[in-house]
Amino acid sequence: MSVPSESAPIQIKSDTWIAAVCSAWQLSGSRITEPRLRVLQHIVSYTTPFSAEHLYAVLQQEPSPPGRATVYRTLERLVSAGWVARIHTNGTEMGYIASWPGHLHHLVCTSCGQVIAFEGCALEELLTSLARHTDFLIEEHLLQIYGRCPNCRNA
Ligand SMILES: [Zn+2]
Ligand SMILES: [Zn+2]
Repeated sequence: MSVPSESAPIQIKSDTWIAAVCSAWQLSGSRITEPRLRVLQHIVSYTTPFSAEHLYAVLQQEPSPPGRATVYRTLERLVSAGWVARIHTNGTEMGYIASWPGHLHHLVCTSCGQVIAFEGCALEELLTSLARHTDFLIEEHLLQIYGRCPNCRNA
């Protein structure tokens, strides 16, 4: 994914997301089992950050639910590949939301919890200057933007 000069919001469409995750898994030789597919469907249905425990609890309400280990392992695997992002909701609490691999950051509504993924990170200059001044080899950065979405700011 190339980085555009403008910050562009990324739309995560359920069907596209599930199909993309499944084909990535197939490429890496993983079987798409029914429980795993069900985990994916639930993950992408969240519009605000969810906890692993909440996801697990919701899945338990269905027939032949996946075990806790399956849920946690699937989630971790999705996070490390970029399909799911960790969202810091209020300082210490952490939630998850479906995302897309690549250099993305997230805009979070502090009122309703809606999350918008966007690409177009303008930190390059800062990171270069920081590396020059500190002699660090900069490997990663974390950026999350908070604000109020159009619905909440008009409420
Ligand atoms: Zn909102
Ligand atoms: Zn960035």
